[in-house]
Amino acid sequence: MFDAVVVGAGPAGSAAARLLAQAGWKIALVEKGEFPRRKVCGEFISATSGAVLAACGIEQAFLAAAGPPVMRVGLYAGGTMASSPTERLWGRALGREHLDTLLRDAAVRAGAELFQPAEVTGLKRDGETSVCTLEDGREIRAHTIIAACGSWNARGIFAMPVADAPSDLFAFKAHFTGSALPPGLMPLLAFPGGYGGMVMSDSGRLSLSCCIRRDALAAARQRHGGKAGEAVLAHIRATTIGVDRALEGAVLEGHFLSTGPIHPGIRPRLADGVFFVGNSAGEAHPIIAEGISMAIQASGLLAKLLIASREDEYARAWHDSFATRIRAASLFAHLAMRDESRNLCRALIAGFPGILDWGARLSGKM
Ligand SMILES: Cc1cc2nc3c(=O)[nH]c(=O)nc-3n(C[C@H](O)[C@H](O)[C@H](O)COP(=O)(O)OP(=O)(O)OC[C@H]3O[C@@H](n4cnc5c(N)ncnc54)[C@H](O)[C@@H]3O)c2cc1C
Repeated sequence: MFDAVVVGAGPAGSAAARLLAQAGWKIALVEKGEFPRRKVCGEFISATSGAVLAACGIEQAFLAAAGPPVMRVGLYAGGTMASSPTERLWGRALGREHLDTLLRDAAVRAGAELFQPAEVTGLKRDGETSVCTLEDGREIRAHTIIAACGSWNARGIFAMPVADAPSDLFAFKAHFTGSALPPGLMPLLAFPGGYGGMVMSDSGRLSLSCCIRRDALAAARQRHGGKAGEAVLAHIRATTIGVDRALEGAVLEGHFLSTGPIHPGIRPRLADGVFFVGNSAGEAHPIIAEGISMAIQASGLLAKLLIASREDEYARAWHDSFATRIRAASLFAHLAMRDESRNLCRALIAGFPGILDWGARLSGKM
């Protein structure tokens, strides 16, 4: 019998498992995938997450492995290449194959029992106890369930089925070596039908990640041919001068990863004895590159309330901490994807680049 079963060992799950285990809770951490694994993600982590990384005991390891400090945010859209006028430490990027393994291992070091690879396929209540069933039929009993299983499950008990629409977003990510991105800059990319970001990550690799609407993806594939990731890259390079310049002479490392459709938003997910964290609770449009930070910060919040036996306050506290960021991200995403608003924004930002700092603050980077 465990105090809690944590479903999913992404940033949200491993952080929750670590923080509860080090407070003396008996934790089962269940992850269906094998680590290390790459993931569709820009890899940027806000400096605001330093406290949670420290509480999880991995801040020094993170700083040692991560890419160089991001000191300016920017915008690459059409012919516009703008960057914020002042320097400050916004954060750093680390590949998910490293970050997720660091966090998972930190949870295990604190005493969490790891079930991996193992998928939770069933969940039921038995009196005061919750029972998780694994794919192989094993059962794990606990007082509390923490659903940290992300939001991209196409099947299974945590799947969130939504009807297909032209506005569905598909996500892509790739690493490049030998890029010419100016040091310390993390530009937001806004292009017809989508948005994305570029940042220097660990080991001298540039991480490029993006989301593109279903209809824009189909048009890009028709125009440029090749595999989906290649067509998206060709579309971005053809429409966004800053990206084309940064990638001149750069070499694609491995291949593009893709996922989707993704459906950012706040999820009305309530279940008896189940607490949702990370993307399972709510997903910000990746345009603000805050999903990992929000995931581990939500786990810090939940762990604090569970340890203090104040878990009734979690839903309200989660909303107060994250709803504004999710709504701001949604606004930025829609401004970036529509031609008229994108053109207006890039003209404004070219004239007043301080707006970039304001946007970064609104997204939760301060
Ligand atoms: C294009 C793109 C770029 C992004 N860029 C950034 C960025 O730069 N910075 C940032 O902060 N965020 C970024 N994000 C968002 C970020 O990737 C997510 O918000 C983050 O991964 C959420 O963490 P999580 O732990 O909630 O979920 P996940 O990382 O999705 O982890 C969930 C885990 O649960 C496991 N799981 C699922 N179901 C089960 C089950 N039934 N049983 C057992 N295990 C299960 C999965 O295998 C997975 O390992 C980006 C997202 C996209 C799409």
